[in-house]
Amino acid sequence: MSDQYSLEDQESSVRLRQAWDNVQARLRSEVTAAVFERFLKPLRPLRFEEDAAVFVAPGTFVHEWVKEKYLAKLQTVVSDEVGSPIRIDLRLEAREKPADDMGGLTLGPAVVADGPGRFKPVEKYRFDTFIVGASNRLAFAGAKAVAADPGSKYNPLFIYGSPGLGKTHLLHSIARKILERDPQFAVAYISAQQFAEDFVHALQTNRIDQFRRSQRNVQVWLVDDIQFVAGRDKTQEEIFHTFNHLQQTGKQIVLCSDRPPRELFLMDERLRSRFESGLVADIQPPDTETRCAILLSKAKQEGIDLTHEVAMILAEGVPGNVRILEGALTRVAAQASIDDGVLSPDLARGILERHYRSEGLARPSFNQIVDAVSRHYNIATDEITGISRKAPIAHARHVAVYITREITRDSWKHIGSLFGDRDHTSMMHAYQKVSELVARDKDLAATVRNLIRNLYPEI
Ligand code: ADP
Ligand code: MG
Repeated sequence: MSDQYSLEDQESSVRLRQAWDNVQARLRSEVTAAVFERFLKPLRPLRFEEDAAVFVAPGTFVHEWVKEKYLAKLQTVVSDEVGSPIRIDLRLEAREKPADDMGGLTLGPAVVADGPGRFKPVEKYRFDTFIVGASNRLAFAGAKAVAADPGSKYNPLFIYGSPGLGKTHLLHSIARKILERDPQFAVAYISAQQFAEDFVHALQTNRIDQFRRSQRNVQVWLVDDIQFVAGRDKTQEEIFHTFNHLQQTGKQIVLCSDRPPRELFLMDERLRSRFESGLVADIQPPDTETRCAILLSKAKQEGIDLTHEVAMILAEGVPGNVRILEGALTRVAAQASIDDGVLSPDLARGILERHYRSEGLARPSFNQIVDAVSRHYNIATDEITGISRKAPIAHARHVAVYITREITRDSWKHIGSLFGDRDHTSMMHAYQKVSELVARDKDLAATVRNLIRNLYPEI
């Protein structure tokens, strides 16, 4: 597509480049120098396309960062400069095709569009690179069924599980499968956070109709990390209407979350029950055999020479989710290439000892959690697990319940037993209470974040 530009494209490219000079000057004074140099300066203006100014980011990091943090600002300043509301269409420069530079004009490099319906799934997130075990079988089967025949069987498909267990991988796999069959199929992937940001921005810029069209004009709607919108009433309302529209018109909906619908406490009940109306599939942490198979498969993909013995040492020894396991493989392979190139059992054991044995990364124990809360609030540990109803003590206890659940994902019943044989409903209430407070109170949110972070000194 990049070599078929018309004169009009060239003019529009020049117009955008001229505007960009002024926009840059303004941005420079509105953000820190480091942010400007690192994230905004590297953006390349491409051209106007209808109501959008198309920019290209040189890499995933800049692309994601700008989308997350600076898109609204960019939009405001560009709109202001151009004199009419302009949407920013930020694309990722394709690595494989370097940009042509013709006559000083910034003509289009090959770009990866990522608007709804033009989603480009991550290359390595495919069904055939997803290792199936007892822990994820149902979610995998559901995802495959949806990809084979969107909108007909499980609608919605709701996949939940802790971070780093392959939810996003499955969403991309669904998209890839469908697009392989029919590249024109309108597949949209959006994180709930992005949805919320786009929605707010559409409200601010009076472009709500357009936003709605972009979300509703799809055949498959993949929404990642839906838990993000819990407690955000306006966004939930919008999700609710989009959901209904798509479901009524037979479009496929797939949602991912870090917890089951019932535990999305601040989510509107109407949404929760809709989420449950199709197939709800969980993903649990994989057992050792599955972890070993994942390592062997990743090693093969990356061209790393990994024996079964070494894979097993890592699968057993590295605590945490699949993402952490992948990190361990990279670390071991990097160390081997520095040494003599051989990924030996001893080398793997040495790395485990140095980087993963320290208590830090292993999941903190219940005692460590209570200790940390006790130190922070200056309240004795046995009071935290005791029965006092005094407000400061009860508050510290609720925070401890919240953190325990966040970190361990243990059942309410089990958590109740840790806190002196308490009823599971009181544990749920304590958790819910802190969730609500954290959503409103920035200081408490920071406290909880710090407590959790300090329990994982290695991360
Ligand atoms: P989540 O969205 O649940 O937080 P991701 O989908 O981002 O997790 O997965 C984290 C990493 O772990 C990704 O690189 C993904 O490919 C890998 N991964 C997770 N589960 C599996 C699996 N069963 N087989 C292969 N890779 C997996
Ligand atoms: Mg994810």
